[in-house]
Amino acid sequence: MSADCIFCGIVDGEIPSRTVYEDDTVLAFLDANPLAPGHTLVIPTDHRETFQDLDDDLAADVFDVLHGLVGTVEAAVDADATTVGFNNGDAAGQEVPHVHGHIIPRFEGDGGGPIHGVAGRRPTLSDEELDDVAADIRAER
Ligand code: 5GP
Ligand code: ZN
Repeated sequence: MSADCIFCGIVDGEIPSRTVYEDDTVLAFLDANPLAPGHTLVIPTDHRETFQDLDDDLAADVFDVLHGLVGTVEAAVDADATTVGFNNGDAAGQEVPHVHGHIIPRFEGDGGGPIHGVAGRRPTLSDEELDDVAADIRAER
């Protein structure tokens, strides 16, 4: 629990929310400023700031609930599809520093775009540079 965290306040019941799922480790509720009807946030009930702060068990719990809810949310609002994602860290646009997955229902012709639209300028990388990046990621694990 982090004293000045909005989402911890929701977990504690100090801040009202439209809860759609809860268990001991995960809570899901409607986004207060939805990008579409049914826009849902999935959070660990314990305060963790970013994806990397989740241990394996908590990450699995959050993913399980996300996985279970995507189809449920689509069906509930009769969506054609969903965009599912995390803004992970300041530079990625994370505004609430308590890790949360977005389930955003999508509709044919809704005017939105694919997840590829979130990044800025695309880099031009040679095959060698791509090989190096892949090697660096493998080495970092
Ligand atoms: P972020 O940019 O951090 O990924 O997204 C934070 C999300 O939390 C936003 O979509 C915003 O509308 C939502 N949000 C912020 N404050 C509250 C709140 O008090 N209650 C609910 N239900 N959602 C909130
Ligand atoms: Zn929190």
